[in-house]
Amino acid sequence: MKALFLCLIAVTTISAQTHQKIYDIIDTVSEERLREDVKTLTEFGTRNTFSDTISTTRGIGAARRWIKNEFETISKDCENCLNVFYQKDFVTKEGNRRVPHDAWVVNVIAIQKGTTYPNRYIIMSGDIDSRASDTMDFTTDAPGANDNASGMAGAIEAARVLSQYKFESSILYVGLSGEEQGLFGGAGLAKYAQDKGWDIIGILNNDMIGNIEGIDGVIDNRTFRIFSEPVPPNETQQQRTARRFYGGEVDGISRQLARYVHNTVKTYMPEMNPMMVYRLDRFGRGGHHRPFNDLGFPGIRIMEAHENYTQQHQDIRTENGINYGDTFEHVNFGYAKKLTAVNAINMASLASAPPAPTTVAIGGIVEASVKLKWNTVDGAKGYKIYWRDTTSPTWDYSRYVGNVNEFSLEGIVIDNFYFGIASVDKDGFESVIVFPNEIMR
Ligand SMILES: [Zn+2]
Repeated sequence: MKALFLCLIAVTTISAQTHQKIYDIIDTVSEERLREDVKTLTEFGTRNTFSDTISTTRGIGAARRWIKNEFETISKDCENCLNVFYQKDFVTKEGNRRVPHDAWVVNVIAIQKGTTYPNRYIIMSGDIDSRASDTMDFTTDAPGANDNASGMAGAIEAARVLSQYKFESSILYVGLSGEEQGLFGGAGLAKYAQDKGWDIIGILNNDMIGNIEGIDGVIDNRTFRIFSEPVPPNETQQQRTARRFYGGEVDGISRQLARYVHNTVKTYMPEMNPMMVYRLDRFGRGGHHRPFNDLGFPGIRIMEAHENYTQQHQDIRTENGINYGDTFEHVNFGYAKKLTAVNAINMASLASAPPAPTTVAIGGIVEASVKLKWNTVDGAKGYKIYWRDTTSPTWDYSRYVGNVNEFSLEGIVIDNFYFGIASVDKDGFESVIVFPNEIMR
């Protein structure tokens, strides 16, 4: 009896604080609207980035005008809470192997301005563009239902749901183009964000969020993947050298974003099976979070766990009894709804949380305690120290330490764990965890 009592206490103290708002957001995401939007996107015939831009019914021009119009309609329902515009860059055939002719690569952007931190952004992206078997072929039908109308429809649906709330930080919903020929749209927007001096919390790149039947025969509507690179590619040699002595090989900013998403899903959607994958993207393949990572912004890829290669980048045809093509009927909308909700609740949580500390110092060499010191941030009610075994993928231990800027964890030996700090607001919303970036001697 006594043992049981202790056990119950433990469960109450370690379970994370939850918010009704987040559960409401999950419930509001509509499977039916996702189905309608993916259907509409497939009906533009092809959305190849280099396809027709004049027609009102076919090609990427018609598709992006429809997406822009959807965001504008959503905005009307929230007293013009979205700033909707095109962001574009010109790409040339010259110097680009997979560009058939010069063209504007046009992204559709919708910004929901934050009430307290308008210059801080959490981004959800899908892609407007699709491709046929030959990526240079911009006329053949390429419905791109799963790749990537699913991610695009997810971003539109997340805007519908989250625009009914106000958040402290800004949320950016975006349809990117030029993915299939070299990640042009993402590169353009990442550069735009850098030029504007945006403070990017991170980008959640959704690329293929609707397939549940894998090429390997596995059918699974609960598991999904979160890809994150280990450390930023633009770190300095000094940072690389320091890591050898202080650790952090698997603790870059994108990895912390991945862990944040993993934790939010485990808390609010326990039926789901988030699978962190410790790599930038799939083996030798790319996605639109990468150009953000290239510039030092946190970014992850969220996608299905089981891909089906006969249904991506394929002309519609039947060969040896196999139906090839990325068509509407292969998308599972119950699953796409779940993954859209994954995005929505993470953006809602991050946009409700205070900024993370930027400087976190750690010390405690040959001592029986670990010391941490960080800069305080406006809007934080207090801070939470997290730590974990060096081999654990998740932050398994934590301690809320109130509104202080330094703390010693007594009896914890620095050598045996990794540590991090998150800001916490009055309602319990937490920032991404920051891995120490300074050493205290
Ligand atoms: Zn693709």
